[in-house]
Amino acid sequence: MKYDYLIVGAGLFGAVFAHEAKKAGKKCLVIDKRNHIAGNIYCENIEGINVHKYGAHIFHTSNKEVWDYINQFAEFNHYINSPVAAYKDETYNLPFNMNTFSRLWGIRTPQEAKDIIEKQRAEYGVAEPKNLEEQALSLAGKDVYEKLIKGYTEKQWGRPCTELPAFIIKRLPFRFIYDNNYFNDRYQGIPIGGYTPIVEKMLEGIEVRLETDYFDFIKDNPEVADVILFTGMIDEFYGYKLGALAYRTVRFETEVLDCDNYQGNAVVNYTEREVPYTRIIEHKHFEFGKQPKTVISREYSSEWKPGIEPYYPVNNEENNELFAKYRALADKEERVIFGGRLGNYKYYDMDKVIEAALMLVKERL
Ligand code: FAD
Ligand code: UDP
Repeated sequence: MKYDYLIVGAGLFGAVFAHEAKKAGKKCLVIDKRNHIAGNIYCENIEGINVHKYGAHIFHTSNKEVWDYINQFAEFNHYINSPVAAYKDETYNLPFNMNTFSRLWGIRTPQEAKDIIEKQRAEYGVAEPKNLEEQALSLAGKDVYEKLIKGYTEKQWGRPCTELPAFIIKRLPFRFIYDNNYFNDRYQGIPIGGYTPIVEKMLEGIEVRLETDYFDFIKDNPEVADVILFTGMIDEFYGYKLGALAYRTVRFETEVLDCDNYQGNAVVNYTEREVPYTRIIEHKHFEFGKQPKTVISREYSSEWKPGIEPYYPVNNEENNELFAKYRALADKEERVIFGGRLGNYKYYDMDKVIEAALMLVKERL
């Protein structure tokens, strides 16, 4: 055995683990099938702008340990995510807050908003929401659901809201104050210079091989390491032998525009069903960019198929049950551990990925 750990995936999970393992004196080899490190947080410089190549990434957390951890590798700016929703010719602030309600109903006070929502909730009378639709209706009433949630969610997930788990919508704040901060977390920002340098620093002094697919590599190097940390898809690892888990993928249509400010905000969500993309990202606004040009990405969501990138695990009941069966196989492995969004089949944000990787470090090292 040449290495203590073979780490499959140079994304955030693999990089945090590799960094800590090296510090603990372990010899690691990191491989990734892509031609770059950083997984889905990779940024590419276009026209002096850090373009979030695999979708917009805003770092936010309430966990001080995680915040301190990531701040070793970068300085963060003061960006606060405040997306705007475009529904037909109407424009709303997100997340759902007094600015949204005031624009929707021409009202001003929290009591007025509460009265309208209570009336709409009463019409549905859902006591215990069992799916995303019931959750949204019982939280926000019909107007918010129909204009800002239903179309967006069905585009994003490719399933009716009645077939999706309630927790997806609980990610978003819902508040009766005039506050457009998309997150409730104590700490938030974008790393100055983008995310790739963070992962570069984490992997400093560690051997990394790119354009190296695990499944080919391991055939030729079965004894390369004592332990394998796998951060790819768990069902692919097992050759889909129990069936394929569902994932959503996103296609990004990126354009350089000859203007300095296209939409006036980093994120604009298109919440009606008829617009084929879910959102447009204007990357420069994450870093208050002053470049003469701008770069935008339209995001089109679709079901994952082999050969394209999986992005979001579809954590509904059916898939969670299948995942539990793969997990049971994984628990029997002596030399392989699974981690990250794909290895654990969890809709993790970056802070949760760091938390999970540090937990694994505590267990293993
Ligand atoms: P990944 O980044 O996916 O890394 C896994 C790596 O493994 C990849 O590089 C892949 O190429 C490699 N790999 C897979 N299989 C193999 C194989 N067989 N052989 C070799 N290499 C392999 N989080 C936030 O906190 N804030 C946000 O705003 C946010 N926005 C997001 C937007 C989108 C569109 C998406 C998809 C996610 C977003 N996230 C966000 C979540 C964030 O991307 C993840 O939490 C994090 O990047 C997951 O890190 P990871 O290392 O688990 O996975
Ligand atoms: N969502 C919505 N309308 C919006 C934005 C989000 O209905 O304008 C729902 C949608 O179901 C989405 C979920 O809220 O999947 C979580 O949104 P978030 O912005 O956290 O999604 P992500 O950044 O993970 O794609």
